[in-house]
Amino acid sequence: NRQILLDNRPTGEPSVANFKLVETPVSALADGEVLVRNHYLSLDPYMRGRMNDSKSYAQPQPLGEVMIGGTVGEVVESRNSHFKAGDKVVGMGGWQEYQRVDANQRGVLQKVDTTHIPLSAYLGAVGMPGVTGWYGLVKIITPKAGETVVVSAASGAVGGAVGQLAKARGCRVVGIAGGPDKCGQVVSELGFDACIDYKAHPDLKSLSRALKEACPDGIDGYFENVGGMILDAVMLRCNAFSRIAFCGMISGYNGDPIPMTNPSLILVNRMKLEGFIVSEHMGVWPEALKELGALVATGQLKYRETVAEGIASAPEAFLGLLKGKNFGKQLVKLV
Ligand code: NDP
Repeated sequence: NRQILLDNRPTGEPSVANFKLVETPVSALADGEVLVRNHYLSLDPYMRGRMNDSKSYAQPQPLGEVMIGGTVGEVVESRNSHFKAGDKVVGMGGWQEYQRVDANQRGVLQKVDTTHIPLSAYLGAVGMPGVTGWYGLVKIITPKAGETVVVSAASGAVGGAVGQLAKARGCRVVGIAGGPDKCGQVVSELGFDACIDYKAHPDLKSLSRALKEACPDGIDGYFENVGGMILDAVMLRCNAFSRIAFCGMISGYNGDPIPMTNPSLILVNRMKLEGFIVSEHMGVWPEALKELGALVATGQLKYRETVAEGIASAPEAFLGLLKGKNFGKQLVKLV
């Protein structure tokens, strides 16, 4: 069983030297346990935070242990009456090829139906990132038809879902993403009304002017994935009683300070700003997954995947994700 461990913690930007590839034998199963062959590993920005030893909403990743991560795979051996060989499952298998799990622990392993939805989608549009987009949009932004919703990291796993869910609710949807290729495809493939290339607008004035053009009626809802100058520019265009869902602040994940330069706008515009962690809202997952699953199964919700090959490629692919080398959900194919 090849595994990737966190070997040491980064200062600032992480590197492949923070990780270590090891091979360990898979030991025999105990009663109640299941052996899963992981087919795909999900790489997610939150893993960057876990690499630090600082206080956050989640515990740091312990050194010398298998990196945490969501996985989908197939049961290959079972000593648990609820699972049999061949079952397709989603779980938190970590950065490794096989996982041995005590399947009696509630929620540790979920069976999934791959008749109409590909297995990998349970790590993206019909999984944690999709529910994240759904929660921030539906529960915090609460969009009404005719409103304008903006989303940053628009081509990503979360952002792509947000935009399409907002379109389905009758909103004008404007994305923000890095580079002309990503922006073009956010419009042509994901169906956004417009997408602004933030790299072509490197200062506040230029970005806020681009937002004014793309959002002639101002901004009613903003789904925040990035922070920093992009947040400042959006806030300048926000309408009275607009809502911002604080989902991620990836531009600050390596420790750079990302101040908000104009907080008085919150008062002037009577805005609502709310942060959330999707795993603290398990109650909405069934409702969110029902909508996301139906939209994906009927082809109405489009999603992209960037797939790295083999467990050894995971560190490099993870560093790429933090730099925007992915388009859509970043996965590692293990089988
Ligand atoms: P993505 O697939 O969107 O990948 C990350 C993207 O962020 C990159 O592709 C890149 O796109 C963009 N990015 C990276 N650095 C910067 C930067 N300095 N400035 C602007 N954009 C940057 O990841 P996810 O969809 O998985 O996650 C999106 C966000 O949601 C993250 O912030 C993540 O932490 C957050 N999240 C929060 C959760 C919660 O419960 N609150 C749960 C899940 C995710 P580009 O090329 O366009 O720059």
